[in-house]
Amino acid sequence: MEHKLGIIGYGGMGSWHHRNSVKVPGLKVTGVFDIDEKRLQAAKEGGLTIYTDVKDFLEKGDFDIVLVSTPNNFHKYYAVMAMDAKKNVVCEKPVALNISELDEMIAASKRNNVLFTVHQNRRWDKDYRIVKKILEDGTIGKPYTIESRVHGQNGVMHGWRAYKVAGGGMLYDWGIHMIDQMLYMVKEPVTEVYCQLFSVKTPEVDDYFKLILRFESGLSAQIEVGTYCLEKMPRWYVNADQGSVIVKDWSCEGKMTKASQIVMEWEPEIVQTVGGPTRTMAPRPKESLEELPLPEITSEWAEYYMNVLAYLEGREEINVKQSEIRRVMQVVEAGFSSDRLHQSIKCRI
Ligand code: NAD
Repeated sequence: MEHKLGIIGYGGMGSWHHRNSVKVPGLKVTGVFDIDEKRLQAAKEGGLTIYTDVKDFLEKGDFDIVLVSTPNNFHKYYAVMAMDAKKNVVCEKPVALNISELDEMIAASKRNNVLFTVHQNRRWDKDYRIVKKILEDGTIGKPYTIESRVHGQNGVMHGWRAYKVAGGGMLYDWGIHMIDQMLYMVKEPVTEVYCQLFSVKTPEVDDYFKLILRFESGLSAQIEVGTYCLEKMPRWYVNADQGSVIVKDWSCEGKMTKASQIVMEWEPEIVQTVGGPTRTMAPRPKESLEELPLPEITSEWAEYYMNVLAYLEGREEINVKQSEIRRVMQVVEAGFSSDRLHQSIKCRI
């Protein structure tokens, strides 16, 4: 069965969806609406039917799914309009600017009985899938801290991302992906949110943030995004009660270290280390540690659309569910409140 996609906003990401669609059997992009003449021209050259009026696009366009990939502040407006025109909607992240906008979108999907989901494509990132698999398999035991970081060096926020009115800033931009990854991996309620936002090089919005989530079991997750970190920290760093994991970057270099089965006879005397005399921080004998490679994972962003099509054909549950999208948005709102109030927010999300 063939499904057709119409795109609202044929910029960097909208055109990426078009290019990527060839990897999804049964999906064909047919039409585009944009307000920029140059972007419409690019879509036309790519073989798509173009529209300069959104009503024409929704009434005459030959598609059953609409992708909304405009700047963030227009997501709700177009998504609701498309759902009221009885189209299924895939919305780019961040789904909306707040819970109240999101609830209007969810209501539109219910009232029109159409699909409404979000392109949380980073659920299929290889680095993330590796960490998720290690934790799900219990390879290093029970985690007590999970650190997820993305560090850039350029100190630049491109175009509308630098402006508050457009829903700019890193908590909305990268934060939303990383919160979604964390909540999709740790199946527990979030009980506390603490967040600090900085505007290091971008005056209007956050270009660095640090977000700490405490889960019900006590597990602590730290999510950090910086656009001006000239020395980068690893993408993932996890500590659990039987080992640790580092995934350095998106190329998925890294390793797992586990405590070996050898029973250690601890050195009773203080150890003279380069850092001074210490027992607690003295290096562990090498033979008491076991270094393991990261598991091999294959994962493709195209799987996102494969699931959307399978859902529309009644073959699978939708992967990115409205209840999950709402939880992520609740964490974002709690993050903004925490930064504003300079205190952590107790919650049950
Ligand atoms: P962009 O600026 O490259 O493209 C935005 C497009 O929307 C442009 O073609 C612009 O002309 C058009 N546009 C602007 N205002 C409009 C309006 N009122 N009506 C119709 N069209 C309008 O931005 P981008 O990087 O493509 O980002 C678009 C969306 O995709 C954002 O929500 C962003 O967060 C998201 N995104 C997601 C990922 C991901 O990995 N999932 C990656 C990048 C961007």
